[in-house]
Amino acid sequence: MTRHAVIAGAGLAGSLAAGYLARRGYSVRVFERRGDPRAAGAGEGRSINLGLSARGMRALAAAGLLDDVLARSVPMRGRVVHHPDGTTAFQPYGVAAHQILYSVLRRDLNALLVDAAETRHGVTFHFGHRLDRIDRDAPAVRVVDAATGAATEVAADLVVGADGAFSAVREQLQHGRRADLHREFLDWGYKELTIPAGADGRPRVRLDALHVWPGQAAMMVAHPNVDGSLTCTLFAPFEGEPSLATLDTPAAVRGFVRRYFPDAEALMPRLVEEFFDHPVGQLTTVRTAPWRHAGKVVLVGDACHAVYPFYGQGMNSAFEDCLVLDECLGAYPYDASRALAEYERRRRPHTDVLADLSVRNFVELRDRVHRPAYAAKAAADRMLNRLAPRAWTPLYTMVAHTTVPYADALARARRQDRILRCSAALAAAGAAIGSYAALRRRPGRR
Ligand SMILES: Cc1cc2nc3c(=O)[nH]c(=O)nc-3n(C[C@H](O)[C@H](O)[C@H](O)COP(=O)(O)OP(=O)(O)OC[C@H]3O[C@@H](n4cnc5c(N)ncnc54)[C@H](O)[C@@H]3O)c2cc1C
Repeated sequence: MTRHAVIAGAGLAGSLAAGYLARRGYSVRVFERRGDPRAAGAGEGRSINLGLSARGMRALAAAGLLDDVLARSVPMRGRVVHHPDGTTAFQPYGVAAHQILYSVLRRDLNALLVDAAETRHGVTFHFGHRLDRIDRDAPAVRVVDAATGAATEVAADLVVGADGAFSAVREQLQHGRRADLHREFLDWGYKELTIPAGADGRPRVRLDALHVWPGQAAMMVAHPNVDGSLTCTLFAPFEGEPSLATLDTPAAVRGFVRRYFPDAEALMPRLVEEFFDHPVGQLTTVRTAPWRHAGKVVLVGDACHAVYPFYGQGMNSAFEDCLVLDECLGAYPYDASRALAEYERRRRPHTDVLADLSVRNFVELRDRVHRPAYAAKAAADRMLNRLAPRAWTPLYTMVAHTTVPYADALARARRQDRILRCSAALAAAGAAIGSYAALRRRPGRR
């Protein structure tokens, strides 16, 4: 007998999940409140491009889509740090050639995922349809057609909430239950800007890297695009001096960029127009439980674990959710309740750690990246990783270039840090003893 699934949200997680569920034999209806991402102008106001790393790649490979995605993306071999004095430094992402990330346009990726899911038997997408109510016990949903206002009830065996950080499915799944919901907003927002290709069509800066302008007052990152342009995300506080609130004239915007990202102004000919045309984005972290109701309703992606974008793992972990959910449904094909419980057990402790890591990386980018101690620690990590790749893996490498679960990666990194600190203490003690012995050996001393 065919089982029916309803997915709320045809974003990145929802469209990948649709393909996976169809492969498990579900007939799948996906309801998305926005328009079709394949249509021009879709997805406005959302982050433009994203860094794809090992976890996302594994989930895409398992769906047979990785090669298609990589063909539309730009490899990033490391990050170029732009210092306040205008100098730059390249930091490779890892010591091995395969340790690279890929920059991909959200719209292209979303369109590819929708196309791929639609080719599977039994998958239909309904764009311009907002899910506004669920009956979690039935389960069933009510969707509203944005064009006509008509509401339709749709029954299913499984409802998947892939409807993002402000998930309606999450709200109704947890309504009236003992549920935890911790949501935080960062007091910094972001604007997207562009470094276009030069007049000769060539990139204005090195294209095989993520560009980072760290800083305490503001920071900026730029992802490369296949057309030779880069999309910059400028992060700054909402309030205070300076802040997004005080950047209210062209002169203020230019002065701000000149002061905090001195080499970037010349790279952004449309800086002022874009700054005033583009909306300010907000950043939120969501930690929540439960993620599921019986074997009937389940959350994936930002709906259950939105994180700040400073580790570049939101989409990657959302894709990993889809893969793990698929594995759990495969492991318990006749017991959806057990499958969803197992999915939450395997994922939630790790995405909670990812939320912490993402906050920590914001602080690192803001306060530490240009300090000599940070560069020294990163260099020591890389050297130890090169000397003993099995025994020593930097935390960033484990998060971005492996699929070691996030909490396990953090625990291992903490052990490594303890060893590094003990070794440094032992080396210092050894040096002190050596100097003392040398002093004692000098003639005339006892
Ligand atoms: C500035 C920025 C940079 C980022 N960079 C990276 C990066 O480099 N790497 C990375 O891995 N991640 C990155 N992320 C995170 C990434 O964008 C998210 O984690 C990812 O989009 C989550 O996918 P999702 O499908 O769960 O949610 P979304 O992409 O938010 O999709 C949810 C979908 O549900 C729809 N929807 C919402 N409510 C309803 C409803 N009631 N009915 C029907 N549809 C509904 C929405 O319209 C949307 O299409 C970044 C995020 C930001 C903000």
